[in-house]
Amino acid sequence: MAPRNDKFDFDFIVIGSGFGGSVAALRLVEKGYRVAVMEMGRRWTPDSFPRTSWSIHRWFWRPRLGLRGFFNMRFFRHATIYHGCAVGGGSITYASTLLPAPEKVWDAGSWTGLAAWKAEMPRYYQTASRMLGVTQNKILGPADVLLQKAAEAAGHGQTFYRTSVGIFQPDEGVPGNKTFPDPFFGGDGPPRTTCTACGGCMMGCRYGAKSTLDLTYLYLAEKHGARVFPETKVMNVKPLAGVSDGSAGYEICTVKSTAWICRQPQHLICRGVVFSASSLGTMELLFRLKDNGSLPAISDRLGRHVRTNSESLIGARMPGCHEDFSQGIAIGSGIYIDEHTHVEAVRYPGGSDSMSLLTTIMTDGRPGVHRIGLWLKNVLGSLLFHPVKTVRLLRPWGWAREHVILLCMQAVEGHIEMRWERPWFWPFRKMLVSRGNKVPTYIPRANEFARKFAQVAGGTAMSTLPEILFDVPGTAHCIGGCVIAGSPDRGVVDDRHRVFGYRNMYICDGSVLGANLGVNPSLTITALAERAMSFIPLASATSWSDAA
Ligand SMILES: Cc1cc2nc3c(=O)[nH]c(=O)nc-3n(C[C@H](O)[C@H](O)[C@H](O)COP(=O)(O)OP(=O)(O)OC[C@H]3O[C@@H](n4cnc5c(N)ncnc54)[C@H](O)[C@@H]3O)c2cc1C
Ligand code: SF4
Repeated sequence: MAPRNDKFDFDFIVIGSGFGGSVAALRLVEKGYRVAVMEMGRRWTPDSFPRTSWSIHRWFWRPRLGLRGFFNMRFFRHATIYHGCAVGGGSITYASTLLPAPEKVWDAGSWTGLAAWKAEMPRYYQTASRMLGVTQNKILGPADVLLQKAAEAAGHGQTFYRTSVGIFQPDEGVPGNKTFPDPFFGGDGPPRTTCTACGGCMMGCRYGAKSTLDLTYLYLAEKHGARVFPETKVMNVKPLAGVSDGSAGYEICTVKSTAWICRQPQHLICRGVVFSASSLGTMELLFRLKDNGSLPAISDRLGRHVRTNSESLIGARMPGCHEDFSQGIAIGSGIYIDEHTHVEAVRYPGGSDSMSLLTTIMTDGRPGVHRIGLWLKNVLGSLLFHPVKTVRLLRPWGWAREHVILLCMQAVEGHIEMRWERPWFWPFRKMLVSRGNKVPTYIPRANEFARKFAQVAGGTAMSTLPEILFDVPGTAHCIGGCVIAGSPDRGVVDDRHRVFGYRNMYICDGSVLGANLGVNPSLTITALAERAMSFIPLASATSWSDAA
């Protein structure tokens, strides 16, 4: 244990309990530190998850509107960003696809050359994969079989692969829903139940088959002494005793995130801080703290190089089809349609049809008024000449069973900037606003593939309304904004995730990623956090003076 210093409530306070935060909590507690994790979301159990996505108040997170779920959607001029908010962060709502980034990403972006990434990262990916129980998907649902057929028809059949997932699966051909004593941590972890292929991963796994962080890293961290404070939002972090670099410790101020009136403010003091509030959450908090004078030395590069993984959400709907495309795991397979463009087959569970309100008939062409006109012409023409077919295509009910989402990601350069400003539509307070060149919402080769997919399935290619109407891409993979770099004039943290300008302060989450990965990012966030924590000395050996 760290030498007990009663002046401090904790040695480390970790802000956020997602992938980066849970790794930090476990590894720090293992090194003998007294650790607290502040998490603004709620704690969930398999039986408290909503049955379908129509249960908006238990799915969406907007506590001021009385919505206390675990999924949030934030609208910016350049992107609609989907993210998780719960004890366990994004893992509660994620599809559990856990893929390592291709090696080429270490040669691009702000982290290039700062470490021997290609030599070092495989062992951290290996640890992250073991901890999250990564295995190849054994369950190919109808959507995956269709993806394979469409890939073959389009000449990409050889690139079809089963995803690597953090799901406890039964042996092939054996039904799921059987509970076993901890299969992953030699008896130290919780019992787990095998997957039933219900397709509900993104609505919260009601069986405990998905490797969420509250069943893996965070479970072990709590078991070994870390304290998790749910529904606790961090509002301020400031150096103690006027020592501006934080070497005397930090004061952390929190409020109850789900309270409207009596917000129960708390003040805790600690020696070190780990920001793990996700790319958006950490940027938002650091901008506020830089602006209010609590942490003025945070690099001016804060908010730069925010990436959306160059994503586009398209798909196809097959009304009246006898197959149930909601069966399987949320993301069961993928293909590559060219060197840079990766497509995954995604599904929601039966009855979770509310996302249908964002989908519409696919329309090609350059974004802008021209494409909106073309889209209107398509929809109205379709309603006029094929009214029954069009209504069946656009009606919400049955959507999850009839629709396959194609998540298209590109490992190509492209980023936006986030700033802390008063927007023109709400000048009363500062908030995150996006700036910079638009990220393309139209990936012609991906649209071409969606049409082929629809043709093979006997359905219609679909796209999302925000992409067509506002030229705004949707992404569940917002990364960057506090990127790893060699100096504060290029990024916010060094290659060990130490925040430039402060002592004993780290960032471990998606905000440090320095390049578009072209794959789902959680495994990389976990592996990088493992690496960052490996440099922190044991509590018995620390001099509390770690700095970039
Ligand atoms: C629907 C969906 C599906 C996804 N599927 C996949 C997938 O299959 N594979 C994959 O790799 N990725 C997936 N992702 C993305 C993945 O969830 C994120 O990349 C990942 O969770 C980011 O990890 P993180 O450590 O940066 O932070 P997060 O996991 O987002 O955790 C941050 C936590 O900090 C908390 N927080 C924020 N601000 C504060 C504050 N001020 N005080 C206290 N707490 C705070 C938040 O509530 C949140 O719980 C998916 C995302 C969504 C939305
Ligand atoms: S498919 Fe169903 S049972 Fe399997 S991990 Fe996803 S939610 Fe859990």
